[in-house]
Amino acid sequence: MALLIDGKKISQQVVEEVATEVSDFIATYDVQPGLVVVLVGDDPASHVYVRNKIKRAAEVGLNSIEHRLPATCSQQELIDLIEALNNDEKVHGILVQLPLPEHIDEAEILNRINPVKDVDGFHPLNVGSLSSGKPSLVPCTPLGCMIMLKKVHENLSGKNAVVIGRSNIVGKPMAALLLQENCTVTILHSRTKNIEALCAQADIVVVAIGRPEFVSAHWIKPGATVIDVGINSIERDGRKKLVGDVDFSSVEEIAGAITPVPGGVGPMTIACLMKNTLTAAKIQILAKEVKHEFN
Ligand code: NAP
Repeated sequence: MALLIDGKKISQQVVEEVATEVSDFIATYDVQPGLVVVLVGDDPASHVYVRNKIKRAAEVGLNSIEHRLPATCSQQELIDLIEALNNDEKVHGILVQLPLPEHIDEAEILNRINPVKDVDGFHPLNVGSLSSGKPSLVPCTPLGCMIMLKKVHENLSGKNAVVIGRSNIVGKPMAALLLQENCTVTILHSRTKNIEALCAQADIVVVAIGRPEFVSAHWIKPGATVIDVGINSIERDGRKKLVGDVDFSSVEEIAGAITPVPGGVGPMTIACLMKNTLTAAKIQILAKEVKHEFN
């Protein structure tokens, strides 16, 4: 049976580390790191995500603020809010909850966030830095996956890693992070031929496709580590249930280690948002000190 990679437990450790560092940061600089989450519209799932983020942020000692705009708000109103937050010294992290209403250009909005406040790591500058191996604010979900992988593998160098899914928010940054750790990385997607055979060669498999229980035991090399990013709501035996992209019950028989859903990658994503906000605050305070030094 595979080792269960407990996302709840590991995320709690991350959150506790961040809380300690936040308290040290406040004591050193007399500045409380601030996170603003912007929510546009009435999507019920987005409301739940934002509420959880705000709650967690307050728990670690961040100054967490939610900004709500109606679904009818214009692109310019949202840009004006982001500009105001970019110029607000008390705000160190800005997160615009996705998806945005259809009339708003998502890419344009993400481009407007100051890259040093971009705690989601979606700004092109941060994307470019990550893919060229430079320090950057890294998207929270892949960052969380990486922390979990490092709990299982002291050294990832030389491992064959497969990432299934090539989205900008999970698959691509995940592949970049694995490459930084000197893994040999293969990205598989909906057009990949022989996908099962390619997957079965991997020591590490990260799955982010949004297809319930799609990856089953014969895709997995015995002893491989499997990280399941998928969150899918299905109905089974007349009840709603959350499942991943991996068929947990068959894969846990063959894998060396596996994340559950729920309780795997999900809690790590929020914990990494806290971590990124602290990182953003550190970057901004250092930049301020350097500027002060040269003036
Ligand atoms: P996405 O943007 O829809 O991308 C899905 C990717 O999967 C695409 O690259 C697609 O390939 C690939 N794909 C779809 N069907 C496939 C198939 N049959 N075989 C191989 N590849 C296939 O999804 P996402 O935003 O990355 O999210 C993926 C999953 O992770 C979802 O369940 C989402 O809810 C979950 N998620 C969880 C967290 C968390 O915190 N735990 C965070 C983010 C996302 P093409 O590019 O060829 O179309």
